[in-house]
Amino acid sequence: MTLTIKTTKEDVLRIYNECLEFLKNNYPKYYDVVKQYRFSFGKKKRSYGTCYYRTKEIKLHMYLIQTVNNTEAKDTILHEMAHAIDQGVNGYSSGHGYNWKRICKQIGCKPVSTSSVGADVIKPSKFVMVVTSDEGYEYVKPVHRLGSRTPLNKLLIGTYLRGRVKETQNKLMVVTFADFQANQKASDKD
Ligand SMILES: [Zn+2]
Repeated sequence: MTLTIKTTKEDVLRIYNECLEFLKNNYPKYYDVVKQYRFSFGKKKRSYGTCYYRTKEIKLHMYLIQTVNNTEAKDTILHEMAHAIDQGVNGYSSGHGYNWKRICKQIGCKPVSTSSVGADVIKPSKFVMVVTSDEGYEYVKPVHRLGSRTPLNKLLIGTYLRGRVKETQNKLMVVTFADFQANQKASDKD
């Protein structure tokens, strides 16, 4: 099977800069937020892009991005920028909620979650549930307190994510946010 590459890294960089230019000319307040973000390529296989609020990073993941056309890639870039704007302007992230949707409509991207599975928004929380694999930790959701069903650093035997039994059964784990971040840094390096 041949894979046709529809969007290259060069396309992504060009589109990212076009989006920045668009914000600069039309929404200077939004531009001030997004220009603080560092852009890089990530290696996730199940999401198109990720917005990291704490480290102010937007990552685009070529594994999926290369399979979509430039228009769809642009939609993903604006989607992630809208997350950064939402958090930067409002002081907190609404996830894929009302405030974020309003920003999407303003700047011209579809106000829907594009990630195939899981979250593309990493909210700082005390603990996080992750899928463990050779590729590193994949973010699932925030965990606010430990308990018998959410012990720390122990594989959750018998538990899995709906629709992804094979890849996630007995591979879910609760880790500290610090451990998750350290793992992301190690595994996201290109
Ligand atoms: Zn999103």
